[in-house]
Amino acid sequence: MSRDTPLYGAIEAGGTKFVCALGKADGSLIAESRLPTADPASTLAAMVNFLKESSDRHGPLSGIGLASFGPLVLDRRSPQYGFLGKTPKAGWSHADIVGAVRSAFSCPVGFDTDVNGAALAEHRWGAGREVDDLVYVTVGTGIGAGVLVNGAPLHGLVHPEIGHLFLRRHALDAEFAGVCPFHGDCLEGLASGPAIMKRSGGELSSLNADHPQWTLQADYLAQLCATLVLTVSPRRIIMGGGVMSCLALFPLIHQRMLHWLAGYVDHTELLQHADRYVVPPGLGQRAGVLGALSLAVSASAASS
Ligand code: ZN
Repeated sequence: MSRDTPLYGAIEAGGTKFVCALGKADGSLIAESRLPTADPASTLAAMVNFLKESSDRHGPLSGIGLASFGPLVLDRRSPQYGFLGKTPKAGWSHADIVGAVRSAFSCPVGFDTDVNGAALAEHRWGAGREVDDLVYVTVGTGIGAGVLVNGAPLHGLVHPEIGHLFLRRHALDAEFAGVCPFHGDCLEGLASGPAIMKRSGGELSSLNADHPQWTLQADYLAQLCATLVLTVSPRRIIMGGGVMSCLALFPLIHQRMLHWLAGYVDHTELLQHADRYVVPPGLGQRAGVLGALSLAVSASAASS
C-alpha cells in the first residue's frame, strides 16, 4: 500500500466491546481488533495501544473517530467535551474518552454517538447515499437513533434519545411493565431485545411468524417511524441492530407506519414507496465501526 493513502483510526466504543480499526476514506478497513469493555483505564489504554501499534505498522493517522455508547458530552464549549455522561455502565460515568486519544495523538479527533456515527456511515457509503436528511435507528440490547439534518448529526442540547419515546400501548400488551430502568414502558422498555426476551421467552427470530410478539414489535417500531415522520421529517429511515436482522419485520412496520400516519402526511414517498423509505442498513453490522471511520474522515477534512 502507498504510504501516501491517508489512514484513519476508528473506534466503536460499546458497552460490551470496543471495536478498534484502521481504515481508509473509501470505507475499507485494513486492521481490526475487538477488546472487551472492562474498566475505563485499562480499556482506553488498550484502545490507544491498538492505534499506536497499527500506526507504527501501517503509517501515520490523518484522523481518529470515536463513536461511543452514551450519553456523551458533545458540546464543544463544555469543559467536559469528550466525556461520557452519567451512565448505568459501572465505572464509566464521566470517563474522558476523547482525552485518552488526545493525550497520545496530535491528529484531529471526531467524536459522536454510535448511532450518529452509523447514520454518517450509511450516508457516506450505505443505504442513505442519496439523501441528506435521514435517521439511523438501532434496535438491539437498547434502542437508539442518530439524526442527520442536511448531512450533519443533530445534537441540540445534548443529543436525541429517541429510544426512550413514549408510545401508545397495543391492546394485546396491556400487562407488560417494560424493562427500561428509567421509564419502564418507553419504546426501549417495550421493544428492545431484552423486552422481547422478557415478554416472550425467546428472541424474535426464534418465535413463529404468528406469535403475537411480531405484531407488537412491528406496531411499536411503526409508531417510532410515524413519530419520526411527524417530528424531523427524514427522507429515509434506516433500521439496524440485532432485532432488525429479522427482515420479515420491515413489511409489517411499513403497514403499521401508514396506519398510524392515517393519510395525514400526503407524500408518495410514504404512501407508495414505504418499502424504500424504511430500510435495512446498507452496511449491515459494519455500520458501527464504519461510523467511527466516517467521523475520523470528517474530522480530518474539517481541520484541513
Ligand atoms: Zn426509557
